Amino acid sequence: MIDEKKINPNIDKLHNYFDNILAKYFKDGKPDPEYFEQTACYNCGSHEIANSFTVNQFTHVRCKNCQMVYVNPRFKESIVTNLYNEADYTEFYKIKLIPSIDYRKTVLAEKKYEQIAGYFNKSGKVLDIGSGLGEVLSVFKEHGWDCKGIEFNEFAANYSKEKFSLNILNKSIYDFDSSEKFDVIMLWGVLEHFFKPADILNKIHELLNNDGLLLLEVPSADSVLVRYYERTSKPVDRIIEGDRHIMLFSLRGLIEMTENSGFTPIEIKSNGLDISTLNRLELNNTLNLSQVNKVQQLLDDSMQGDLLRGFFKKKV
Ligand SMILES: [Zn+2]
Repeated sequence: MIDEKKINPNIDKLHNYFDNILAKYFKDGKPDPEYFEQTACYNCGSHEIANSFTVNQFTHVRCKNCQMVYVNPRFKESIVTNLYNEADYTEFYKIKLIPSIDYRKTVLAEKKYEQIAGYFNKSGKVLDIGSGLGEVLSVFKEHGWDCKGIEFNEFAANYSKEKFSLNILNKSIYDFDSSEKFDVIMLWGVLEHFFKPADILNKIHELLNNDGLLLLEVPSADSVLVRYYERTSKPVDRIIEGDRHIMLFSLRGLIEMTENSGFTPIEIKSNGLDISTLNRLELNNTLNLSQVNKVQQLLDDSMQGDLLRGFFKKKV
């Protein structure tokens, strides 16, 4: 069973922390135009909107054409770059991830590894883009894989080098120039942060071996969690995080974006903590952990969990 408390032991503290950082970018509860800009749908380029909702001061819109959800207006890219690079995002690692690093590794990362390794009959070369604290990559290393990570945040890059003795480049994927090819390229909770996700996918296409595997895990626009907060516009402390998650993927959007960059989906699953989050924030913890997990399983099986985990190959 997955226990949200063990994954996110300090979530209230984290939420307050980001609220304090972000306050300066808003005036009277509205985005200050100095720091924000308009955008079109990241998948189809449409400006047509089916629905809009505001959570934690960020307005999210649902594309009428492809059902992607994206933040509009969004932060200008320079603001986000500073946010990730400076001490602010380092605190994110210290408050949110380090206290749960052992649980994340032994429970979550092991499962991630098993799913990916299931596509291969021997170890190979893996690239983790946005490798964070390195717990997923460390499992690959233990199983004999040749591992490389790219992590923009200096603190996280150094932590993963020291704790797991990993080969991590502290840079942006945009600055990663290599003729090296990889058998597996994975992005866990990363693609939704990029202003030009198509550029990232095109770059990955060049870096991946012809028979290699791309793993993308992204927040879903079709989950029970997102649908609930879309309907209520109540504050929520996971997934709908408008400063960082500038897009949430519809299944159609995820498939179209990857196909446009030369990939074919071979398997897309849903998984999430929708019910745990709703139980904590809306139901006063009425459900016990076993009940939470049973209902979540039903949602995941029907593709309504808050994350989409997709496995892709290159088109031939
Ligand atoms: Zn669209």
